[in-house]
Amino acid sequence: MRDFPTLKLDDLQSDYPGVFEGAKYVDVGIGWLPLIQAFVEEALAHDPALVVHEIKEKWGTMRIWCDTPVLRARLAKGKAEFKSGMTCEVCGAPGHIRRPPPDRMAWWRTLCDEHASPDQRSWGTRPQGPMYGYMQTRDGQWYRYDETTDSMMPSEPPAQWR
Ligand SMILES: [Zn+2]
Repeated sequence: MRDFPTLKLDDLQSDYPGVFEGAKYVDVGIGWLPLIQAFVEEALAHDPALVVHEIKEKWGTMRIWCDTPVLRARLAKGKAEFKSGMTCEVCGAPGHIRRPPPDRMAWWRTLCDEHASPDQRSWGTRPQGPMYGYMQTRDGQWYRYDETTDSMMPSEPPAQWR
């Protein structure tokens, strides 16, 4: 359950004709709209045939299911998914992945200080694990988010994979 506004699939379908035509649903907060817009625009520039099937939140971050064999479009997807973990799902301000109450594991959320409840603030945030910012493409190459260029850059594998 969400107590904040979520994106409307209809709006994305009219903003990006074709891309969201067959999408089942888009179920994330409006704070992530700029990430989705940046992803679609960057990916479309490299793959005009881009098709998005589904966008949802899992364990506090955004997951995008899409069809594209084009590397740069897949990197744009990875970047949007990674950045959702530092972007408040409610308002788009800088945020952190907030721990859920001990018995509500579905309640991981990325929220700014303002939109986190006092409880969520007291539970703390998720520590950055060894895979933080990394993604691997189908050919086995690793990429890591680079803040200076705001892009996924080719990288050595995470330490545990070397
Ligand atoms: Zn917020």
